Amino acid sequence: MSTGTTRLTPQPCHACGITTDHPVRVGEVHAASGPGRTLYACPAHTPRVPAVQTPAAALADALRRSRDFGTGV
Ligand SMILES: [Zn+2]
Repeated sequence: MSTGTTRLTPQPCHACGITTDHPVRVGEVHAASGPGRTLYACPAHTPRVPAVQTPAAALADALRRSRDFGTGV
């Protein structure tokens, strides 16, 4: 029953360490020695970690956060 949809490999969230079936790529770490690695976050932590994202996504994220906290810091 293949639908051709790319299935993500479960990855540990870099914020909480819990392996999630829906990892979101939030950045990369470039090590001085050895290859860099990709950072993933679970959906719960995706909005609060530094992310490489488009300006539009950053704006939407900022708006979402200000609404969640209720105070414009
Ligand atoms: Zn997490």
